[in-house]
Amino acid sequence: MSMSFIDLAAQQRRIRGKIDAAIAAVLDSGAYVMGPQVREFEAKLAAFGQARLALSCANGTDAIALPLMAWGVGPGDAVFCPSFTFAATPEVVPWVGATPVFVDVLPDTFNLDPARLDAAIAGVKAEGKLTPRVVIAVDLFGQPADYPAIKAICDREGLKLIADSAQGFGCTLDGKHPLHWADVATTSFFPAKPLGCYGDGGAVLTNDQELWDLMDSFRVHGKAVAPDLVGRTFDHDTKYLNTRIGMNSRLDTIQAAILIEKLAIFQEEIDLRQGVADRYAEGLKGAVIATPKVIDGGVSVWAQYVIEHENRDGLAAHLKTQGIPTAVYYPVPMHVQAPYAHFPRAADGLPVTEAKAETVLALPMHPYLAEADQQRIIDAIRAFNG
Ligand SMILES: *Cc1c(COP(=O)(O)O)cnc(C)c1O
Repeated sequence: MSMSFIDLAAQQRRIRGKIDAAIAAVLDSGAYVMGPQVREFEAKLAAFGQARLALSCANGTDAIALPLMAWGVGPGDAVFCPSFTFAATPEVVPWVGATPVFVDVLPDTFNLDPARLDAAIAGVKAEGKLTPRVVIAVDLFGQPADYPAIKAICDREGLKLIADSAQGFGCTLDGKHPLHWADVATTSFFPAKPLGCYGDGGAVLTNDQELWDLMDSFRVHGKAVAPDLVGRTFDHDTKYLNTRIGMNSRLDTIQAAILIEKLAIFQEEIDLRQGVADRYAEGLKGAVIATPKVIDGGVSVWAQYVIEHENRDGLAAHLKTQGIPTAVYYPVPMHVQAPYAHFPRAADGLPVTEAKAETVLALPMHPYLAEADQQRIIDAIRAFNG
């Protein structure tokens, strides 16, 4: 018998009636773009993430690009980020003409290593070619980065901090969401993310109204927003007064309507994921693998449950024969991917990242993983002696 790696159908069965009604309401209204559900969802998302404001957009990649555009980050600027992440994290940096600088991660949490970040910033300053501007921390696999340490460095160096919480939206550290430390927290509603929609979507959370206004302009072709209209009158739709070069990055009303229903059960699903993670940790205790460690005071949303094994590929093949799907996040770190290999790296390289790429293995993880299936996974891992 086979099982799914991420079972989206189980959730859909649970709320299908509500989803159908929400979609039907959008179809009836005809407000397919920027309908009232978009604002309603933004308000609810902000409240969930302890933010004053949320700005929805087309995907989690644009969500990282929008604050970079709004801050005017560009050529000659350095943006520090991990290499052990999905391509979207560094990808947006060259979009705006800036340079990503790759920094190693901590061996236990897979998240940005503050000491290595410190060294990378010092290295860039000593070289004198680039100006440090922004740090992008990633909440990899669902758990918060070490925000207190990273924020202290950003404050000392005058750098902006982005929390790329595409995998970690809903995670907390000492009860606070990443935005408590970051200037913006971004997320993705790609279907397989902990809070996913039925297509592409993303959002930026911030406490800064001025930044929100600017990003609102950038997401709609640089349309005029309130600050642009101070001291002038414009009697037409402000979409047709273009005050900067923007893009088209809106969340569809249908996706917002779907997300309102999914957000309503999100906290419960986070708790279910924690139960699954606890059962893995208990069941795999003493097996010859490393189970995930969450930062002290942290609560993960468990986008992935990632174990480590010396013979990772052997273990994956063994599990496959038992009908158990696994995945490798990430087999090739970003700093060695061809289009990124010429970008700078922190001095001393990224040995932890390179080692992790060889050993990590993600197990089936979703809120509705049946205990019997999970026991089968645990037993199969324990039976592997390769
Ligand atoms: C998925 C992901 C993104 C991008 O999200 P999309 O909605 O697919 O554009 C960004 N960063 C990380 C770490 C991700 O996992």
